[in-house]
Formats: sequence, C-alpha cells, structure tokens
Amino acid sequence: MAKVLVLNASYEPLNITSWQRAVVLLIKGKAEQVEHNGKMLYPDFPLPTVIRLLHYITLPYKEVPLTRRNILHRDNHSCQYCGYTGDDLTLDHVIPKSRRGGETWDNIVTACVRCNVKKGNRTPKEASMPLRKAPRRPHSGLYFEVTKYLRSGGHQEWRKYLIGL
Ligand SMILES: [Zn+2]
Repeated sequence: MAKVLVLNASYEPLNITSWQRAVVLLIKGKAEQVEHNGKMLYPDFPLPTVIRLLHYITLPYKEVPLTRRNILHRDNHSCQYCGYTGDDLTLDHVIPKSRRGGETWDNIVTACVRCNVKKGNRTPKEASMPLRKAPRRPHSGLYFEVTKYLRSGGHQEWRKYLIGL
C-alpha cells in the first residue's frame, strides 16, 4: 500500500511507484531520498515517500482513458447539476447523444438519477440546469492519479511537489 512519488531530476513529479521499486532505485544510486515518513525499513534506512531521480528523463504524454470510473473521479463523485453525492450516480451527455453530442471528456458529466431524468433530452440551457463546472479533459494523467491518493487521505506530504501540475 505504501506508494512513493518519484520526482524527476528537475523536481517535477514523474510518477507513482511501489516502495519496493523506489528502494531499488535508491540502492542502485539512481535516485535520492527526498521525504520519508519516519518508518525504518532497515537501521539507518527510512522508508521513502518521495524520491528524486539523479538523471533527468523524458516521458511520453500519458492520456487518461475516458471511463465511467475516471469521469466520476474527475467530478469528485458529485452530480454536476445539483451537487448530490451518493451511490446512484449516472453519466449524463451534456448535449444528448440523440442530438449528436459526443463521447468526449467535455460532453459527459456525473449526474444523479433525478437530474438526469429531469434534464432528459435537452441541453443544460434548454432545461435551465446550468453545470456547476465546465467539464474538461484531465490535463495530466499523473495529477489524476495523485488526487486519488490525496482524496483518500494519504500522502499529504506529496502536496508541496504538485504545485503547478
Ligand atoms: Zn443532481
């Protein structure tokens, strides 16, 4: 469960890895320890929570897949029309499919059953149901991953490395 945030040599966040893999990078001298949580793995070897690579690497852009789970996560599991949070959430096409609304990040939002039924085959404007926030494609796969850990209450020490992501 213990995950480690990996920073590039430039201190930009790169990815999230297992503590085992992070320890291997440290032992091989490919990374340095930046943060730990005080737990000791061996004497004089604290369990890392943030490490930094010693050599800069470039990674290809990683797109976040458009799935029900990911849309719910983006919308913080709340109805984008009324703010309801609960189990029975649905996905709503902002411009209805029957009116050529697309399967895209900016046309699918989380909606409660009540709002979804009420809106029906209309646009938010026609239904007088404004969206609380304009839906967008997540701009970084890593940011998306990291917020999952932060929202579940863990790894708050990662926050200071995530500014600007
Ligand atoms: Zn609602």
